[in-house]
Amino acid sequence: MSEDILQHLREIENRIQQACVNSHRDPAAVKLLLATKTVPAERIRIALEAGHTLIAENKIQELKEKYEALKNIPHENHFIGHLQTNKIKDLLKYDVTCLQSLDRWDLAEKLHQRLLSEKKTLDVLIQVNTSGEESKFGIPPEAAISLIEGVSQLSTLKIKGLMTIGLLSAETEKVRACFRLLKSLQQQIATARIPRVEMLELSMGMSGDLETAIEEGATIVRVGTAVFGQRPTPDSYYWNESVKVE
Ligand SMILES: *Cc1c(COP(=O)(O)O)cnc(C)c1O
Repeated sequence: MSEDILQHLREIENRIQQACVNSHRDPAAVKLLLATKTVPAERIRIALEAGHTLIAENKIQELKEKYEALKNIPHENHFIGHLQTNKIKDLLKYDVTCLQSLDRWDLAEKLHQRLLSEKKTLDVLIQVNTSGEESKFGIPPEAAISLIEGVSQLSTLKIKGLMTIGLLSAETEKVRACFRLLKSLQQQIATARIPRVEMLELSMGMSGDLETAIEEGATIVRVGTAVFGQRPTPDSYYWNESVKVE
């Protein structure tokens, strides 16, 4: 079982490497983030011990459940799921260093209040819905700049870039259009030179489409299935707004 994970990690590294070669990019400019939803702590440990130390959960509940088992192994936690405002306290308690899924003003405001009272700051990426699918979280592209201008005024939040989930489709060119849209938004925002806003990170690409994402400029690819295997829970449980997320 542990061989599996190590083997899969090598395969992913090769895919990233190859995509970088194809698009004339430096592989050091692309980080691998492991999406660990539904994966038990023992399996995550294997990847951490192999040196793959950037991981992310979608649900606070899972972050909580695995925290003790992983806290002695050095690693960095991002959060990539839909965050409810009543879970902000826990996000901070369990040492998340970057919220990749900031997608609305009320969440930003409440985060800011909590961070102020804890005298902390937090890195964030703005999640953009580039596929236009209603089942995906994220701010519509046309509303992203005004959200970013607002968030830039909140002293505790540090905007580092953008995140998206591309269209889940076998048609590469449709998927590519999502990633291109995110890239062009990034450039537009960078050009606007909004004080305190950095546009360094583009978090896009998953198990099925990481090559396309790297070709279009991803700096973080988020991989779950291709490392840990198929998940028992359908992704709609994590992604669909009509499903009660608790
Ligand atoms: C699950 C998930 C991933 C990883 O998806 P895979 O297809 O399993 O690689 C990436 N990003 C987000 C936001 C996810 O929820």
